[in-house]
Order: sequence, then structure tokens, then C-alpha cells
Amino acid sequence: MRYVSTRGTAPALDFREVTLAGLASDGGLYVPETWPTLTPDRIAALAGLSYVDTAVAVMAPFVAGVMDEGELRDLCTAAYGRFSHAAVTPLVQLDHDQWLLELFHGPTLAFKDVALQLLGLLFERFLTGTNDHLTIVGATSGDTGSAAIDAVAGRSGIDIFMLHPEGRVSEVQRRQMTTVGAPNVHNIAIRGDFDTAQALVKAMFNDPAFSSRFRLSAVNSINWARLMAQVVYYFYAAVRLGAPDRAVAFSVPTGNFGDVFAGYVAARMGLPVAKLVVATNVNDILARALADGDYSSRQVVATPTPSMDIQVSSNFERLLFDLGARDGHALAAQMQGFEATRAMRLTNAQRDGASGLFVPERVDVDDMALAMRWASDDAGQTIDPHTAIALSAARRQAVEGVPMVTLATAHPAKFRDAVERATGQRPGLPARVGDLFDREERCVTLDATFDAVGAYIAERATPRA
Ligand SMILES: *Cc1c(COP(=O)(O)O)cnc(C)c1O
Repeated sequence: MRYVSTRGTAPALDFREVTLAGLASDGGLYVPETWPTLTPDRIAALAGLSYVDTAVAVMAPFVAGVMDEGELRDLCTAAYGRFSHAAVTPLVQLDHDQWLLELFHGPTLAFKDVALQLLGLLFERFLTGTNDHLTIVGATSGDTGSAAIDAVAGRSGIDIFMLHPEGRVSEVQRRQMTTVGAPNVHNIAIRGDFDTAQALVKAMFNDPAFSSRFRLSAVNSINWARLMAQVVYYFYAAVRLGAPDRAVAFSVPTGNFGDVFAGYVAARMGLPVAKLVVATNVNDILARALADGDYSSRQVVATPTPSMDIQVSSNFERLLFDLGARDGHALAAQMQGFEATRAMRLTNAQRDGASGLFVPERVDVDDMALAMRWASDDAGQTIDPHTAIALSAARRQAVEGVPMVTLATAHPAKFRDAVERATGQRPGLPARVGDLFDREERCVTLDATFDAVGAYIAERATPRA
């Protein structure tokens, strides 16, 4: 399998290169040259398979030429062996047609672990036997940071520099990042919002001097391997609810458009997906883009769902590429226009293509709280605020007889204050987070400028071999 850039000029790469690189050299994102497909018979044959076996069947075509199935299985067994639930991503029934897919049983309590535990092992596997040293630079609104740090802490040949917006992540999220003592972990609080932090990371990747000196790598969902790992649970859940004979709908709490794009990939691979509900909070650039074709960035509003407080969704570019006849040069011009003015119109082809599968829903804080109380009172489930945004949207989009799966992206204990405010109950921390509140924190605070952050990283990172 080869991978091509959404902006049409960077060289095509294989799975190893695309995993280590993250962003393409032309500023685009990598996508598979073609979508592999699973026939209905092969999807039917996934019934009853374990999570790891499902993962191997779904991901094998994407790693073909670089890893065989045995190697892939070993990595998946190691990655998903660290989850605290034997099903890895269990389904929970809420009412007749409404289901929750619990994606938060990994080490840092959010769905990011599903992809990042595997990515950490892929990095290690691809660096073994080389003199290469990887400098991971990432921006996080909370959950990517802790999951990425857990996945690479203490691994040799890797340094990780994680930027988070100061004061905009929950205390549990912050502590999960700053209390990791491994010397290869560097936490940077940025005086700015998440989009500013993400723009700084992009600027470093696009800076020729910086990126020639260090082998920069990405753990944000611009990294293809992350999305690939997320495709698996769409298959795992849908097969349990009747696919391929029955189509299943999903509601996805959306920020950077990575998780819901993985659902789109599952559909392109042949999974019968009835619809993908793109659930956003009041930071609704995606809802506006999908409803009116207006992709324009506004001021970020801080909400109880910080992982969705985003006004630029990186992975949306992958969808626009696929729906725009895969014309990289046209998309490069469209995206450059957006980068200059923070606004663009979708083409008719992009709008029509998206409307077949994606349904936007914008959910405010009141509806979020109502969904949390409904889950608690009517289904006995305590859910986190992000999951509640998607559940509220899922209930608006319910269709009799079509299973609707809400992706539960974080453990409620990760956002205890918000859960307590909405339901009056304070969720307990699961045992696997241990003595989080007693451990010492390590973090620097820097201005949101390329000079300040670049200098800090350059002083501490190991140059290319
Ligand atoms: C990252 C995250 C999201 C948003 O996922 P995207 O892939 O960025 O759209 C939603 N909920 C939680 C809890 C998250 O950590």
C-alpha cells in the first residue's frame, strides 16, 4: 500500500515512512492511494472474532508491504493487552436502538489510547536497528497529550514535546501529562488556545531549517496510523449489531474530525454505515461546513468539552480531498485560501459527497447536561461531557430499527467537575490511574511564539543521525 498527499506534490510513501513522517512535506495529509475493501462475506466472517483478530483483519491491507499479519498481530496483542476491559471496546445498551461504544478503557481513560498505544509500538518497531532519533512535537487539547506520553514514555530513540493550552485542560488531563517522570517527556503549557498551539506545531513542520535538523514526527490525528487504528472499532461494533446484513449509524463527538473520518474510511471499505452524526459543541465550524458549505473559523469558545473546542479541523482536509475527485492541486489552492483568510466555501461536489453520509448536529451545554441526566436516570450510565454531546445528537437523529452507536470517547472520571455539575454525582477515579494526585508535576509555560517554543525544543531535542 502506498500513501499520497492531499496537496498533490509530496512524494508517495509506504506505511513505515508515512507513520514516521506524520505531515506531508507539501503541507498536506497522507491518505491511502486506494481504499481496500472487505466483501460482505469477509465482514460476516468478523462475527465472533476478538478485538485483536478484528484489528488484524481490518488493518492488514494498510500495512501490506511493510509488515506481515503475524507482526501486526503481535503489536496489537501488546497494545490492547494494556486495556482494562477484556472486550477492549465494549458495547453497552442504553435503550431499544441506542448503544454506547466505550472507547475509554485504555491507560489514560480516553479513546486516544486505542490508536496511540499502537502508534508507540509502531514507532519503536520502525526505529529498531536504525540510528534515527524521533522528535515528536504535538499539540493537545488534553487527551492526545496524555495518551501519546503514556505510549512513548521511556522508549529509547524518541523525545516527545507536548504543547497544551494553559488552563484549558482538566486537572486529570494535565496531571496525566505532567506527572510522567520519564526524561524523554517534555510538557509545554502555551499562553494561547488549542488552535494556536496546533498552528505552532504546523509551523515547525513547515520550517525547513527546523525540520531538516530534527526528524520531526506527529502524534496528532494528522498521523495516518492513528486513523487506521480507529477504523477497527467501527467494524467491531457494527458486526456485533448485525452488519453486514444491517446498516448501523454512529454518532461521534467531533473536534479534529479524526474519529469520524475513521468511520468514513470504514464505510469506504464496505461497512454498511447508515449515517455518521458529526456532533459538535458550540464551536461548530464543522456543523456549519456540512450544513451550509461555509468552512470559516471563528473565535474558540471554552466549553466543558475541551477536546472539541476547535475551530480548524485538520482531518476535514482528508475528506475534502476524497470528495473532490482526489485533485491535490485544486485542494492545495483551496486550503491556501483558507489559511490566508480563515474561511472558504466547499465545492458542490464536496457538499453533495458529504451529505450522503454525514449529518451535522450542534449541541449546546444545556442539551449536553440533559443527555448526561438521561443516561444516568434512564440507562444507569454515567457519561462524560464529550460523550453526552454525541448522545444528545444521536437521540435527535434516531431512526426506528436502525442501531445508533454513540462513541463514548472519555471516562467520566476524566471530567469529574463537569459530570458532577450536570448529574450531582462525582465519578470515582478508576484504580488504574493510581496516585495521580500525589505525584509531582513537570511543565514549563511559554509564550505562543515560534521563537520561544522552537528555541526550547532545539535546546533539548536530539538532531537527526
Ligand atoms: C479527541 C477527542 C474528541 C474529538 O476527536 P477528534 O478525532 O479530534 O474529532 C472527542 N472526545 C474526546 C474525549 C477526545 O479526547
